[in-house]
Amino acid sequence: MKKNNVLEDGYGRRFYYLRLSVTDVCNFRCDYCLPEGYQSVPKAPDLSVAEAATVMRAFAQLGTQKVRLSGGEPSLRKDLPELIQAARQTPGIQRVAVTSNGYKLPSVIDSWHLSGLDQLNISIDSLDDNEFARITGHDCLPKIRAGIDRALALGIQTKVNAVLLSDGAQARLQQFLRWLKTTPVTLRFIELMQTGDNRDYFASNHLRGSDIEQQLIESGWQLLPRAIDAGPAREYVHPDYAGRIGLITPYSKDFCSSCNRLRISAQGKLHLCLFSDAGLDLRETIRTGDADALAEKVRALIGNKEVSHYLQNGNTGGTQNLSIIGG
Ligand code: SAM
Ligand code: SF4
Repeated sequence: MKKNNVLEDGYGRRFYYLRLSVTDVCNFRCDYCLPEGYQSVPKAPDLSVAEAATVMRAFAQLGTQKVRLSGGEPSLRKDLPELIQAARQTPGIQRVAVTSNGYKLPSVIDSWHLSGLDQLNISIDSLDDNEFARITGHDCLPKIRAGIDRALALGIQTKVNAVLLSDGAQARLQQFLRWLKTTPVTLRFIELMQTGDNRDYFASNHLRGSDIEQQLIESGWQLLPRAIDAGPAREYVHPDYAGRIGLITPYSKDFCSSCNRLRISAQGKLHLCLFSDAGLDLRETIRTGDADALAEKVRALIGNKEVSHYLQNGNTGGTQNLSIIGG
């Protein structure tokens, strides 16, 4: 592998982490993301395994150490195990993660494990079966929880993503806390982000993560130091709990100053920010299989990365919903 200096932008941010969307299709209808379900549009086919492998080789040359496969719903791709394996076999990639709604988890987690998965993030906004079904449009929480138990038994580092929603937040927090007493997962509360599609929903459901964080600190949760390939979560531990809690607060001051990730969409577009206007199309170069050329293209484009997402100003860029580029 040809290895250059770690990719760095004009603001001194270094990019160790690639989020690779493998499809924008999803089978859930989460209220804040795809409330009407996935609407199909004419588009190029999703990146093949070979194309995804080229992307990962190029990013590894640029210093990427961690790849997260996301979507849409990545488990809708039958070849997800091959994609995990391609990430695992990329020299320089040390951690391979998947973010999923967990819909198929019990039947697929063993094959993901065999393919080399290190870390799994499953999205569960509520531990109440009925509320979960209301939010996602799918009554399948027990099955997802069984899949998480299996992932833990296999030794896969497991995180649960929960979007913070104002109505009923305290009841959900108490339920999560009871679960974390004995379950060794990291629960990450994600502050709801405004997108092009969810403006009204955002206005009535946004809850500041800092309110929950303050409550946790007052009840003895302690902040951990952050690793260089870590996501944006501030992670807390408590001696009485087997699990941890992370807070992702995109509206907080300085959120973007620690940004260490870039995104590639399932159509091969580079997104310098989750909320940048339009992706930069790299498909032609990806298709050639030339990772060196692709790495040079990405290096040339990094100077266009903005200092902030400007979400706090109501900017949602070209991001209609997060299923398009994987959150
Ligand atoms: N379908 C998979 C899932 O739900 O885990 C992967 C893609 S999903 C876009 C990735 C993450 O983004 C999920 O944890 C989801 O809850 C979160 N998400 C989606 N829309 C969001 C929004 N508007 N604000 C905050 N988080 C959001
Ligand atoms: Fe699908 Fe994930 Fe969006 Fe829910 S958050 S609709 S599971 S892409």
